[in-house]
Amino acid sequence: MPDRTETESRKLLGRLRAALAEGGAGQARLDRIVGIIATSMQTEVCSIYLFRDKDTLELCATEGLQPEAVHQTRLRLGEGLVGRVARTGQVMNSANAPSERGFRYMPETGEERYSSFCGIPIQRLGESMGVLVVQSKAARVFTADEVYALEVVAMVLAEMTELGAFVGDGAALSARHTSAVMIRGTVGQEGAVEGNVYLHEPRVVVTNPISDDPEAELERLRKAVDTLRISVDEMLNGNMAGEQAQVLEAYRMFANSRSWMRRMEADVESGLSAEAAVEKEQSLARSRLSKATDPYLRDRLHDLDDISNRLLRILTGQGTDTGAEMPDNPILVARNIGPGELLEYGKKLKGVVLEEGSVGSHAAIVARAWAIPLVVHAKSILTEALNGDTILVDGEQGIVHLRPEDSVKSAFRDKIAMQARAMERYASIRDLPAEGKCGTHISLQMNAGLIADLPSLEPSGAEGVGLFRTELQFLVRNKMPRRSELSALYSRVMDSAKGRRVAFRTLDIGSDKVLSYMAPNDEPNPALGWRAIRVGLDKPGVLRMQLQALIRAAAGRPLTVMFPFIAEPREFRAARAEWDKALERERILGHPLPERYEVGAMLETPSLAFAPESFFAEADFISVGGNDLKQFFFAADRENERVRRRYDTLDVSFLGLLEQILAKCDAAGTPLSFCGEDAGRPVEALAFAALGFRTLSMRPASIGPVKHLFRRVDLTEVRAVIDAARADGHQSVRRPLMDWLATQKG
Ligand code: PEP
Ligand code: MG
Repeated sequence: MPDRTETESRKLLGRLRAALAEGGAGQARLDRIVGIIATSMQTEVCSIYLFRDKDTLELCATEGLQPEAVHQTRLRLGEGLVGRVARTGQVMNSANAPSERGFRYMPETGEERYSSFCGIPIQRLGESMGVLVVQSKAARVFTADEVYALEVVAMVLAEMTELGAFVGDGAALSARHTSAVMIRGTVGQEGAVEGNVYLHEPRVVVTNPISDDPEAELERLRKAVDTLRISVDEMLNGNMAGEQAQVLEAYRMFANSRSWMRRMEADVESGLSAEAAVEKEQSLARSRLSKATDPYLRDRLHDLDDISNRLLRILTGQGTDTGAEMPDNPILVARNIGPGELLEYGKKLKGVVLEEGSVGSHAAIVARAWAIPLVVHAKSILTEALNGDTILVDGEQGIVHLRPEDSVKSAFRDKIAMQARAMERYASIRDLPAEGKCGTHISLQMNAGLIADLPSLEPSGAEGVGLFRTELQFLVRNKMPRRSELSALYSRVMDSAKGRRVAFRTLDIGSDKVLSYMAPNDEPNPALGWRAIRVGLDKPGVLRMQLQALIRAAAGRPLTVMFPFIAEPREFRAARAEWDKALERERILGHPLPERYEVGAMLETPSLAFAPESFFAEADFISVGGNDLKQFFFAADRENERVRRRYDTLDVSFLGLLEQILAKCDAAGTPLSFCGEDAGRPVEALAFAALGFRTLSMRPASIGPVKHLFRRVDLTEVRAVIDAARADGHQSVRRPLMDWLATQKG
């Protein structure tokens, strides 16, 4: 950036700051600003268009066009050159505007006299807020220096718009973040809740986009970057406090990036404050992010976004602390969140809304275990929501209402009341068995993973815990738990179960469950990688500790243990050998051994379904981990929203696989259960029971609805419907089953 432009741009920002300091209503400010820009840039026209609503741009101030057009001229997003700049987020610089594709003549503005046009997007962190336009009669292209100066000004305008500087008397704009917004996302977990927004990472508000002392500002920027570098290094050198080392490596790369630093320094030298400079570069990265398709590039742009947030927090003195106090009935709003971070918040949360996220992730499983509504893919929730905003989360339909109108609120409250009545109905059958009209009894058990889940055992009517995910205890900590801690915890779980069976699944880490205190594993495809029993057998220290802790916790009581992700019998045998050794060691040490025990395998890969018959006789029981089994059967990532719903669990091919497992377990006399999320969906649960499953394990909140349905039907009839659908060549039995259910009474 040549010196001349730096000073010009600095002078322009200096004038803008003085104009803004004069105060006055929003419209007066805008009018002053366009005048200053036109004079400084020596152009005949300067106009500011801002979004009136998300699809409409409005001419809000102009120097040079007809003053009557202000607040009258409106364009749809994408319409005319201005609409195009707003839609693409790209600068448009033309010597002959009327010849450009999409040019739209607006007679009320009197702009036909102007040939050159330069439109600059006004955007903040990827959100388009409007367009700054300069025009002149002479046919000329604006120079790169001029465009840069305008970009700097547009950055300031974006910040001022965000701060509400242009709202008020005379301005047709309403304040941002005040109107009602409805966002349509994807259902992650059903349920409806009213609460208040609690941002996982609160937005940083820059109150001083322009600096009067660039030297001092450069100093602030450099100091903040130094602090950032030190903090990233510290995190990498051991104490990673929940961060993944891989991400931190990328952070380090950016924190030390010369080009990033140079760009921000140039912005500061042009008159922006350090915060505004960081945001300017961050905004550019966000706008590139929205267009990037290459996953590697997207990841890097994401990293740059994260590190910019960190730098902003350092500059604004917010550190890395999230700062804001948790409101009553908090609804967590985040771009994305891992299971460990979610667990750290604990059960205080009443709901979760994610801008990205996915339904099959373990964070979603945590939300489901807590039975709190979850909506994922809630596009632009982060730009819209402010801490403390009223929010309604409709987990049935995947809809979020932010700052709702009273009528929406009252309809929503009716819905909550209806759900409460359904809950009462389920509570009334809590002590009745899950028995079809045919008299077949199905054991409904619950999935758990935290001590806090156990109080649900009684009210849900679960007969036991069919899956206790032990890794959640590892994920909530930031260091490896000790054996004595684990043993005390498992003992409490067994105490709370009051003699009911609890199937403890040994540590299932890897894939999306990453322990911050274990060396990260850079794998291209972690779901197919070094995870679960593979880690347990390769590094048996943790597995042994866990088995010992379980035996000690049982202190003579019956014990059930299962190993996750067994792909072939050899793995089960090796894991079982560890179990036998653990028993022997405990015996020698004089600890009481379980009165009886069962050691089972989780069937989560199709390969195990095809294992020799002898394997099915070896395992004391088998539990189908349907979440993983389904993703591998259909080769459809359970966390990838694009593909995860593509294949139906009630697809006849998948049911065929389940039948084969049922037949093998039956022949060997080995008990079989199903503990994936599908077991908690009433129609799926019904189909599984009709095929022959006699134990289903699900989140506690599903037990009522599943039992309610079971008690209404005859499983032999359900089986007949399934068989007829298969004979008719249906790909999925869902529709025939639903149609048949609609004919049933009750
Ligand atoms: C499964 O895969 O179905 C399962 C129960 O295990 P998780 O969801 O914890 O991987
Ligand atoms: Mg699994």
